Amino acid sequence: MNAHALIGIGANLGAAHQTLVDALAELKSNAGVLSLESSRFYASDPVDAQGPVFINAVARIETTLAPIYLLDVLQAIEQQHGRVRPYRNAPRTLDLDLLWYDGIEITTPRLILPHPRMHQRAFVLEPLKELAPDLKLKQGSIEALGKTCSDQKIWLLRD
Ligand code: AMP
Repeated sequence: MNAHALIGIGANLGAAHQTLVDALAELKSNAGVLSLESSRFYASDPVDAQGPVFINAVARIETTLAPIYLLDVLQAIEQQHGRVRPYRNAPRTLDLDLLWYDGIEITTPRLILPHPRMHQRAFVLEPLKELAPDLKLKQGSIEALGKTCSDQKIWLLRD
């Protein structure tokens, strides 16, 4: 049966905007991804990270891939874009997070769902208002959680 998943996508090195466009196209072209809808693109100041502003978006996909295989696909796309992890929260050419997958909750060494920090991040919550405004997390609604992050600077990029 097909599942619905939400993917967070961000970049803050190199041609970040183009990297997001390319990564979304690569994800969409995967045989296990049946449809993909992206939010608009936002810019945000780094949170728990360094370097220039991030370009962020969230994608909603319909997929036949089980969560761990979807994570494999996301990490392969990160690798194609030359992501290196010299240290935790280092600047990155591309970061893909599996945020939510059909509402399931799992905690394994490789994968935690829902993503453990998504409810604290304006750069996730703001694009999510476009794609899944009615989504409820354990911590609250997207709208209410967004208000708790109002100190995090984020702005919509013009198309
Ligand atoms: P980061 O460097 O922030 O992209 O974190 C990547 C690491 O988090 C990888 O080792 C993943 O296996 C792990 N991880 C745990 N849960 C998730 C998730 N929901 N989405 C993406 N990575 C995850």
